[in-house]
Amino acid sequence: MQSEPGSPNLNGVPLCVPTLNGNEADYLRECIESGWVSSAGPFVDKLESSLASYVNRKYAVAMASGTAALHLALKTVGVREDDEVIVSDLTFIAPVNVIRYLSAYPVLVDAEKRHWQMDTRLVETFLREKCERRQDGLFNKTTGRRVAAILPVHILGHPVELNHITGLATEFGLPVVEDATESLGSAYDGELVGKKGVVSCFSFNGNKLMTSGGGGMAVTDNPDYAEKLRYLSTQAKDDPIYYRHHEVGYNYRLTNIQAAVGLAQFEQLQGFIESKKKTAKAYRELLAGLPVSFQEEAPTVSSCYWLFTILVDNEKSRDELLRFLSKRGVQSRPLWQPMHQSPALQGRFSLLGGGQVSEELAGRSLSLPCSSHITEEEIEQVASSIRDFFSARSPS
Ligand SMILES: *Cc1c(COP(=O)(O)O)cnc(C)c1O
Repeated sequence: MQSEPGSPNLNGVPLCVPTLNGNEADYLRECIESGWVSSAGPFVDKLESSLASYVNRKYAVAMASGTAALHLALKTVGVREDDEVIVSDLTFIAPVNVIRYLSAYPVLVDAEKRHWQMDTRLVETFLREKCERRQDGLFNKTTGRRVAAILPVHILGHPVELNHITGLATEFGLPVVEDATESLGSAYDGELVGKKGVVSCFSFNGNKLMTSGGGGMAVTDNPDYAEKLRYLSTQAKDDPIYYRHHEVGYNYRLTNIQAAVGLAQFEQLQGFIESKKKTAKAYRELLAGLPVSFQEEAPTVSSCYWLFTILVDNEKSRDELLRFLSKRGVQSRPLWQPMHQSPALQGRFSLLGGGQVSEELAGRSLSLPCSSHITEEEIEQVASSIRDFFSARSPS
């Protein structure tokens, strides 16, 4: 099979690989010729201002990864050791890892069945019934720990029920840090995602909607937070001459080389989003009538469909389908192990809602190929392989 120029040469249909057909090479050459290759430079500034204006935020701070952005976002809004942070149970592990980096504890929230996001009703019950306000904050009555932030993760491009979360956050005095790493270009209530967090975070990892090779961005409207994010990401350096530091910082800056690729990708973002939406629509049409189901799109939402995912009847047929597709050269992958089942957390979490919905979704899920340069023929190839799988199975 011929692969597109500017995309990794893999046999078969890969799950999700970048499309690098814009100004990437020209901008990289500019970095080399100008000497601006490291953690400052015109492409970093341009990428920051482009993304800030795209999602309508006042400030953007580029970071070495989405994980780095989330880590410093939590630190900036005041999460400390032994605090608790409310976060999605069904997610890639990065937002939960950053809670642990701070020696804080995740309060994992089970998913809801329709959109597969954090079930915000569980958050409300937890805050109303299991927490109490004291002079120095909101406390979990069961664990005695301070509840310090809410970290909703918009998985697969579909936003969490954000009005409910921000309403609760205001009522209980909690900051919201938004993990929008999978939802660049998605909209909620007519507004692009990345606007509702006190700090919102994006990722430019290789499999994300746009890539800088590796990288991320934190956006905010709060000038003090923007300054703090920048300060912490540059080793908390107080001055450029004497190298004095008042606190422990991080080397989390994005390089100009990475930002060069990122800016070239940003220029193509609208096309990438349209392609993802078209791919999702095509799969829905081609797979209609088969025993598979889809993530429902809420009426107030427009998903960027970062990673198109189906549900099969049970875990056994999901695994069989995965192997069947693999033999046909079609790469697919289940969703992540729910966080409450992760050995990495070793019991250092609480769980709201029991986790059955996350377990069921993770067990039945399969993400399908959806690179932004995927062709109609490739989509048809994937769909007909899935049809073949089910017709071989059904007694006729
Ligand atoms: C990709 C991703 C991240 C982290 O991004 P990196 O840039 O890879 O560090 C964080 N959260 C979620 C939900 C992600 O999918």
